[in-house]
Amino acid sequence: MPHYNYDLFVIGAGSGGVRAARLAAKAGARVAIAEDDRIGGTCVIRGCVPKKLFVYASDFSQAFRDAKGFGWSVDWARFDWPTLRDNVEAEVSRLSGLYRKNLDGAGATIFEDRATVIDANTVRLNRAGAAYTAERILVATGGHTYRPTDIKGHELGITSTDAFKLDKLPTRILIAGGGYIAVEFATVFSGLGVETTLVMRADKVLRGFDADVRAHVHAELEQSGIKVVTGATIREVAELASGARLATLSNGVRLEVDQVMFALGRQPNTPGLGLEAAGVKLNARGAVEVDQFSRSNVPSIWAVGDVTDRINLTPVAIREAQAFAATEFMGEPTMFDHADVASAVFCRPPVGAVGLTEEEARAAHKDVRVYRTVFRPMKHILAGNPQKSLMKLVTLGAKGRVLGVHIAGPEAPELIQVAAIAVKAGLTKAQWDATCAVHPTAAEELVLMSEPVPHDNEAPA
Ligand code: NDP
Repeated sequence: MPHYNYDLFVIGAGSGGVRAARLAAKAGARVAIAEDDRIGGTCVIRGCVPKKLFVYASDFSQAFRDAKGFGWSVDWARFDWPTLRDNVEAEVSRLSGLYRKNLDGAGATIFEDRATVIDANTVRLNRAGAAYTAERILVATGGHTYRPTDIKGHELGITSTDAFKLDKLPTRILIAGGGYIAVEFATVFSGLGVETTLVMRADKVLRGFDADVRAHVHAELEQSGIKVVTGATIREVAELASGARLATLSNGVRLEVDQVMFALGRQPNTPGLGLEAAGVKLNARGAVEVDQFSRSNVPSIWAVGDVTDRINLTPVAIREAQAFAATEFMGEPTMFDHADVASAVFCRPPVGAVGLTEEEARAAHKDVRVYRTVFRPMKHILAGNPQKSLMKLVTLGAKGRVLGVHIAGPEAPELIQVAAIAVKAGLTKAQWDATCAVHPTAAEELVLMSEPVPHDNEAPA
């Protein structure tokens, strides 16, 4: 029986790594965790948490406008960027400190260093130079923003990571991409009063979401004042004498802005990690290939979270980490089920989605029904706010299982968490219909949709 320095060596102290390290240490394992940056990972340090706080900040401008219809005068409202940026940074530091405290409390050893895998059971700390052996290695290194190095002048642009630290708020920004990060940051900047343009190669934002949601959000973003350029990409970015950026698009349009931001996707953090040398198989995108227990082809090496490029969301990384710790350290073999994971996009209106899109459902099943409603929320009417909400259920037959729920409207991320329980539990449309409404709410629409939307291939009800 070989003697190892640790039972578990975790590389990366983000959502997945910290959860696995804590649970394994609490179960009695000797655990070490290495992190090159602050503890907390993308979610806490440069992702979900600071982004959501920025979204809250940007929501106020609409709230001030809405307030007038309810009798309030708020013409004095002024926004101060350094106050927001520094307060958010302070909160991020507080949370990072809590993560550290929890790791310490569980008895894990923290190495503030970059780690490289040397072989199936050995990890080396890059700065300290020390090497440690471990019975199990868990790779939880997350991902990083893709930077399009083929675009001339790309280095003049920022990414979401930089956006949290800007010295001053730009007056005009051009954001490349139409995914989660692009629409969320377009919403944030636009809400903070920045003249915002989105440029994307697709014809609608949010590829992968239900087509109705994509069309609805796209139209609402434009209606809110965000300029959206479709079917185009950035060709070149140049710096003007004023310090402004001149972006040339593939359609020939030239735009002068103060900042260009790239939100063109993220890539797994595997380069330079030593995984190939240790024999770990990576896929074409550089992600660690794992089985349902998050185990790589090397039996002593596992991976969880964005580095595996399965579903790149914080709660998924946490559940994968929990399943790993339960399987390896608590004697409870556990697989995380990646089906029906809900997600939310914090744009305006925000989106919540779980289960199959209409397109996916029609491709997989014969008798698919779609229930859809578009309405102006009660609060928006007095406010004079034209923004509408969309709710959509995708079901199997008229009374069968609810396969998907898609919402774009206020509180959609909160609603979808609850709807996800029903979808995951496999509840039927008949059971949704049997649920009494809560009035007056927007959510009641979810149990009041009685007539399916007509569709060519549909059998009569
Ligand atoms: P996404 O994959 O969501 O979107 C990437 C965007 O970049 C798409 O519009 C895509 O276009 C475009 N794109 C990619 N490559 C190119 C290229 N070479 N030229 C032009 N356009 C390109 O990535 P994000 O960076 O927005 O987010 C990364 C991931 O992080 C998300 O998928 C999600 O898993 C996670 N995330 C989750 C959040 C949440 O839960 N609220 C928030 C932020 C991130 P096309 O549509 O044509 O493919």
